[in-house]
Order: sequence, then structure tokens, then C-alpha cells
Amino acid sequence: MSWKDDFDPELIQKVAEVDQEIAPRLAAIDDQILENQAKVLKAFRDNHVASSDLAGSTGYGQNDEGRDKLEAIYAQVLGGEDALVRPQFVSGTHAIGVGLLGLVRPGDEILYITGEPYDTLQEVLGMAGNAIGSPKEYGIKADYVPLPDSGDVDLEAVKARLNQDHPKVVAIQRSCGYATRDSFTIAKIAEMIKAVRSVMPDVWIFVDNAYGEFSETREPLDVGADIMAGSLFKNGGGGMLKTGGYIVGRKDLVERVSYRFTVPGLGGAEGATFGVLDEMLQGFFQAPSVTGNAIKGAIFEAALLAKMGLTVNPAWDAPRTDLIQTVNFGNPDDMIRFTKAIQHNSPIDSFVTPIPEATAGYEDKVIMADGSFVDGSTIEFSADGPLRPPYTLYMQGGLTYAHAKLGIIGAVQDVFYNKN
Ligand SMILES: *Cc1c(COP(=O)(O)O)cnc(C)c1O
Repeated sequence: MSWKDDFDPELIQKVAEVDQEIAPRLAAIDDQILENQAKVLKAFRDNHVASSDLAGSTGYGQNDEGRDKLEAIYAQVLGGEDALVRPQFVSGTHAIGVGLLGLVRPGDEILYITGEPYDTLQEVLGMAGNAIGSPKEYGIKADYVPLPDSGDVDLEAVKARLNQDHPKVVAIQRSCGYATRDSFTIAKIAEMIKAVRSVMPDVWIFVDNAYGEFSETREPLDVGADIMAGSLFKNGGGGMLKTGGYIVGRKDLVERVSYRFTVPGLGGAEGATFGVLDEMLQGFFQAPSVTGNAIKGAIFEAALLAKMGLTVNPAWDAPRTDLIQTVNFGNPDDMIRFTKAIQHNSPIDSFVTPIPEATAGYEDKVIMADGSFVDGSTIEFSADGPLRPPYTLYMQGGLTYAHAKLGIIGAVQDVFYNKN
């Protein structure tokens, strides 16, 4: 008996071809894991993390040495001076929202230069929906420079807007979100930052780094961004965290946003880490490897699905800067069928059938395969997308390469070989 016995021999043959094709790419990702793991190990050693630091604090959480070390490690590894890494952030959207809104005051503007922000952030910024307490109520402007059809940032248009608007904060979204564009590599982000600084040398540059951590060997702060934020149930949590988010960057800016995270006067000084500090430390320690394996899974997905005739982005041999692998179906039926198959090949709730549903923070109905240990965790093998043309499914994650690989082979078997 072998796992291969469960699948069509023709599919197994295709898998063997893919394995051979992508082997050099997977080896390159292994090298990247090593680079990132070395950075993380060094930060743990430099900060003298002790077994007594794993316990976490209760109540006010003042003088939480373990938390201080965790935040120093995040800052060191991700290229900042200080960080807020807290279970009290309910999600990445919360951390990013706090990071953006904490920087501005009435009369200021936040300008995204990477096109429309991620769906949930549009509500946070008052660009969509009618959220109570949005920055509009405070006289804060939030806008974006549209992306041209190429999907690349139009740097000349950005410079013109900066000269006209003089925003307080320039925001960059690294990962594609639910947009049909490529994610922006660190090299691309470096170009954007250079262009922005040529017009406004001191403007605060914020990066939505969701899905980005450890998917390259440099981070946005390493190429001149001032502050960035993301989720802990994506890459940074290493698949271990049940909640949380982080903000990392320049010391003065992290302090400024800390008063929006809690309240003026308090900032980051309080905030208990109860029973989660050990997981936060261990999760970050494992994050380079978990992220790397998820990317290896995405490369396998890209190669196999392209072989099945589907349009994928990025291609298996293209550079990557996040976990996202998109597949275009062109119609809702195939998209839904494939998502169901992903769910059926997950460890949790494999017997459940996902259906398109309205989701808080999203304008269109969303379908999601989420057979994960942590609810909604997308560092785990998952797929989702809004039901709107061109019916693109966004796949990501996989706690192990072996699961991502088995899961995708199972989904391809269901959709292409078990049609009836
Ligand atoms: C996932 C994501 C977010 C928000 O993170 P959540 O934890 O889901 O709230 C923000 N921006 C981008 C680009 C994302 O992919």
C-alpha cells in the first residue's frame, strides 16, 4: 500500500513530472529557510530568552520580560527598532488599522500607492461601507492611487499625487489581496520607496506586510519603510497562534501607534500575555520553516495546476514574495467545486461542504475552504475568494509541504478524475 494507490495513475505520473521540474526551485526555498532561520536563532540568542520567559503575565501585564524579549526579537529580525506583538490584536486588519490610524490626526491624509487597499482595510479607512468611527468622522482623508492595467505601480502618477496632496502617510500593500495583480517583491517595494522619498523625503511609509514575513530574505523595513504590520495567524505565528497581530518599525512611530492600540498614556506598557507567550515565541521560531514549506506547496500547486490547463499566478518558476497562489476558473461553478475539494482534503472538517456566504468586511460573497486547526488561519492549507469575475481562487498555506502536496493532488483528483 502507498498513498499513490488512492489516485489515478495518470495523475501520479504528472506529479512525478512536476516533482522533477520544480526540484531546483524547492532547493532554493530551502536555502532561504536557512537564511531566515539563522536570523531568528541569532535574535533568540542575542536576547537571552530563558525558560522563565515562556510563562507569560496576567492582569496588567506590566514588567513582562518575556513579552519585551519577543518584541525585541520581532524588531531585530524584521528590521525595525521596536515592535508591538500582542494577542490583543484580533487580526491582521486590526493591527494594520491601528498602525495606520494611530499615525494620523485630523486634517491628515493616508495615501495608498498600490491601488485599492485589501477589502477589510477599505472599511477601516472609510473607503467602502459605512463603518462607525471611520477616519472620515475625524476629518482624516484616505485615498489611493489606482494601478494601471499592467498591475505595476505608476511611479510618475504617484509622485504627482504626492506633490499635490502632501499626505502624512504613504501606504504600500505587499501582497495582492483579492486583486488581480502580482504581489510586490521587496525589490519592487524598494523602487517605490525610492520614488516616494525623491518627492517627500520624510513622509512616513507604512507597509501592509500580511503574508509577506519570511517569504524573502529581506523585509520592507530593510529597504526603507518606516513601519509595518501583519497578522499572527498568517506567517509570523508559524501556524501555532490562535490570535494576534504585530506592528514593527521606527521606535517613535511604534510608540505613537501604541496609544491607539490601547489608550493615551498607557500605550504598550500594559497587556498580559497569559498562556500564549510560549506559543508566540515558538511560533516565530518556527515561522521561517513553516512559511518556506507553504511556499514550496504553492510552487507545487502552480506547476501541477498549470499542467492541468488552468491559468495560475505566480507561475511555478516566478519570484515569490508571499504565500498566495491564484488560479483562475472563469466561472463560479468550477471555482466552487475546486474549493469544496480543498476542504475535503483538509485535516479538520473534511466532511463539511463550503458554500458562498456574505462575510463581515467583504463586499462580495466569499467562498472559503478552511479545514484548519485555528479558525480562519491562512498559514494553514486553505483557499478562498470572492465570487466575482474572473472567479479567481486564492490558495495559501500548508503547515507541512507533505500536506499541501497531498491536499492539492487530492483536489485535482476530485475535480479532474472523479467527475460524475
Ligand atoms: C489577510 C490580509 C489582511 C488582513 O489580515 P486578517 O488577519 O485577515 O485581518 C490585510 N491585508 C492583506 C493583503 C491580507 O492578505
